[in-house]
Amino acid sequence: SIMPTLLSGIANGARRGILFKNGAQLEQIGRVRAIAFDKTGTLTTGHLQVVNVLASQPDSPQLLQVAAALESLSEHPIGEAIVQAARQHNIAWTTASNGKAQAGQGITADLEDQSAVVGKADFVRTQVKTISTHWLEQSQQWESEGKTVVWVAQAGELLGLIAVADMVRPAAAQAIARLKQLGVEQVVMLTGDNPRTANSIAEQVGVNQVYAELLPEDKVEVIRKLQQQYQTVAMVGDGINDAPALAQATVGIAMGAAGSDVALETADIVLMGDRLERLEHAIRLGRRAQSIVK
Ligand code: ADP
Ligand code: MG
Repeated sequence: SIMPTLLSGIANGARRGILFKNGAQLEQIGRVRAIAFDKTGTLTTGHLQVVNVLASQPDSPQLLQVAAALESLSEHPIGEAIVQAARQHNIAWTTASNGKAQAGQGITADLEDQSAVVGKADFVRTQVKTISTHWLEQSQQWESEGKTVVWVAQAGELLGLIAVADMVRPAAAQAIARLKQLGVEQVVMLTGDNPRTANSIAEQVGVNQVYAELLPEDKVEVIRKLQQQYQTVAMVGDGINDAPALAQATVGIAMGAAGSDVALETADIVLMGDRLERLEHAIRLGRRAQSIVK
């Protein structure tokens, strides 16, 4: 009968750190023809670190002060990295007020009666009078190295740039190579980050196609398009901003350790310990379940 077969597949998965929430998803994952991966926290560890700083006034702590004041209002991994760097440099900051986090953009707030902003270039640029090409060139250079660049401004003046870097998960490249060997036709990356940074990471892990600067609803749209072409599409993600795409995907897969509560609740499958290399096994189990059930 069907039940014992699916149950044994589910039990087998659980022993290998793959939690299937129901039997239907076990069969579906065997049919997957395209897989979309979120970048930060999924293909990378998501433990960002500040790696470069370029300040308009190199001898002043103001850049990190303002950045930390605003980022301490954020739960984004970029914010955590910047706050940690400021602490490590024993930099104190005053509390910002009226903080507003804009998903996929950055943060605005008032700091000592002046408006301040941190975030991606396009977001910060709207509040800055002039930007020299020197800044843009440095930013592009860091991005091509796979780093994410945070722009910081206060009272209409650019204070500087902070580059944060993330580590590609050691298992990511091998995991993707195996998926392709299993016949998965398309492997893409979805990210809110900029295309230069995203392409650098994509090259390191063997992703075929990159969709960058996406808002959460844009990720859903890409999944829909993939479904039109490939029918059965899996999405692997960790963040709150991935939840709508995880729900849209034929099979939503959440990172068990890095995953936010919303991602874990929304997904059909949870990868315990964030072990991307287990995806191969999940597909094998799914294919086996299909062949037995038929
Ligand atoms: P991802 O899809 O890679 O998890 P997000 O959608 O969370 O990325 O964010 C997209 C981009 O928005 C980031 O790469 C960054 O440039 C900017 N951003 C978002 N939140 C912040 C923040 N708290 N501080 C600075 N920049 C931010
Ligand atoms: Mg993420």
